[in-house]
Amino acid sequence: SFHKSKGQHILKNPLLVDSIVQKSGIKSTDVILEIGPGTGNLTKKLLEAGKMVIAVEIDPRMVLELQRRFQGTPYSSRLKVIQGDVLKTDLPYFDICVANIPYQISSPLTFKLLNHQPAFRCAIIMFQREFAMRLVAQPGDKLYCRLTVNTQLLARVSHLLKVGKNNFRPPPKVDSSVVRIEPRKPHIEVKQKEWEGFLRICFNRKNKTLGSIFKQKNVISLLEKNYKTLQSLKLSQEGLTKETNMKMDFSGFGNSMEDQGMGMEDGLDEDDEMEIEGGDSDGEEVQSEFKDKVTAVLKEGDFEEKRSSKLSLQEFLYLLSLFNKAGIHFS
Ligand code: SAM
Repeated sequence: SFHKSKGQHILKNPLLVDSIVQKSGIKSTDVILEIGPGTGNLTKKLLEAGKMVIAVEIDPRMVLELQRRFQGTPYSSRLKVIQGDVLKTDLPYFDICVANIPYQISSPLTFKLLNHQPAFRCAIIMFQREFAMRLVAQPGDKLYCRLTVNTQLLARVSHLLKVGKNNFRPPPKVDSSVVRIEPRKPHIEVKQKEWEGFLRICFNRKNKTLGSIFKQKNVISLLEKNYKTLQSLKLSQEGLTKETNMKMDFSGFGNSMEDQGMGMEDGLDEDDEMEIEGGDSDGEEVQSEFKDKVTAVLKEGDFEEKRSSKLSLQEFLYLLSLFNKAGIHFS
């Protein structure tokens, strides 16, 4: 009766469930968010450990089974079940999230949680092993990728537990890992679109030097277009202010904080090192003043010979700030 498409692999090893709950560091005052409670093996232990469990479950049959399991027990008043797709549900306040999730929603769920306000204390989540290793990867690791950097911008991530497939029924095809995700407080401030555009280019070819990535014709022409748009806007703004003393409101310009667009596309597909639009442009380089300007920024930070696969979060932030200081923008 299990639905493959819903990723229904039930945890059958009670010692493992105990271990997850114990490593979660739940306080007796905690409101716990559980995603995909299934038949409630984890839910029961969460109810024992915390004040309240809010469980979001997509499958109505599972919701019924869960309610039946706790009906008439002292737990029922502290369990709230929301039936629905967690990705489409407005999440309530919670202190901590503990979940054995369906792996197909790993990436969008991670970013949904990390954009949730107010920020929770931490999330303890079971992922497919490879996805987990991408989240916790360090510069130079094979699995270090755009997903890694995007996640680590928003959170500290650590690996808690390796979990073999035979702990589940039915067993999934892949091994799993439990990961701890702790949202950064305070946030590292970036302009979302700017950051996204920048990382996309950097990880377009993560093993190439930044020097060669930022010489590609399509990259240079994109950045030059952004640069010129910004320059002409600034000029026309200055002109207007001088000539007519009119105040124009440009406050919306370049402010992309409202864009929460980090999500669905941040999946597991990004290692495939696709070219950005323009096809095979490896050899295509341009000679231009603007290209020299871009290269000068790379030189200034000593980034020309470096590769994204080995850059730390701090280095990415620094490089972006150097570009922006030179008036070079990615959105
Ligand atoms: N927590 C249980 C356990 O550990 O035994 C079950 C985990 S099972 C891997 C994933 C659960 O998530 C299933 O109960 C499935 O119905 C539910 N699920 C799948 N997609 C979902 C979604 N988009 N939103 C909420 N729940 C979902």
